[in-house]
Amino acid sequence: MTETDLRTHAEDIHDQFSDHLDVTVDEVEERLHTLVEEYKVPLDEARRSVTSHYLDEADMEREDLGGGGTTERVDVADVDEPEQWVDVTAKVVELWDPRSDAVAQVGLLGDESGTIKFTKWAKSDLPELEEGAVYDLRNVVTDEYQGRYSVKLNRTTVVERLEEDLEVGQDTKTVEGALVDIQSGSGLIKRCPEEGCTRVLQNGRCSEHGDVEGEFDLRIKAVIDDGDEAHDVLFDREATEELTGMTLEEAKDMAMDALDTTVVADEMATDILGRYYRVTGPTFRRYVLADEVERLDEAADPEAVLIKARSM
Ligand SMILES: [Zn+2]
Repeated sequence: MTETDLRTHAEDIHDQFSDHLDVTVDEVEERLHTLVEEYKVPLDEARRSVTSHYLDEADMEREDLGGGGTTERVDVADVDEPEQWVDVTAKVVELWDPRSDAVAQVGLLGDESGTIKFTKWAKSDLPELEEGAVYDLRNVVTDEYQGRYSVKLNRTTVVERLEEDLEVGQDTKTVEGALVDIQSGSGLIKRCPEEGCTRVLQNGRCSEHGDVEGEFDLRIKAVIDDGDEAHDVLFDREATEELTGMTLEEAKDMAMDALDTTVVADEMATDILGRYYRVTGPTFRRYVLADEVERLDEAADPEAVLIKARSM
């Protein structure tokens, strides 16, 4: 690390705050110097730390800063790091209802590589994005929450609507391993019948619509362990019927005979727990949504798998 490098980084940081704070390049450089040279903090981290310090001092959010001309054009599936300033060309695949007044719009953006969640801050003062339209979005900042990436549109973002269409790719994922856990909310469930709701009822209640006459459905929330990592996999009714060989009608009959819906998940567990599967499907939040399910034979050590299953 030469002093010239530090000086360049100090100038970069200074530029971002020069409108907001009375600070000199020398002062910024001094802070960087202390961290990098005295405390041996890696330069990236030192930059982040110094930037955070000035953000606090200026009472600003990181989103308020511009990218400083360092944005990179990326495909949405390649976003794998938070706090990067990037440009994307993407289609608004879906708009969701914002759950906070701080958010003007929230939804899903897609390009050929896949999809990514986006959030547009209310205070960003940007034009309304339309579902199905394609935009060039410059200067958006990446974020990460529980392993899922998103992009934030902020005050510095430039939005340009393009008169073209774009084929949105699916991010599908394949996981292969032992099915080691079946989580609660699996088996025979009831969903809210209200138009567009479909929430799973808890003790006959929808969290949105209260007591309702639910509609029966099948699903399995399972954990598949590939030996390195545990993956959450969601099987919808069709995939559950295929996985377990039990139809919705059979499941209802079984629950009726036992006067208990939990017997269904128990019965399913005896069939599938500890067995090996290859599951492919699109991802949603932390789940792989099982589209294709294939039973594998090579149960390496069934005893070890079961010990693992019981310990979860
Ligand atoms: Zn409901």
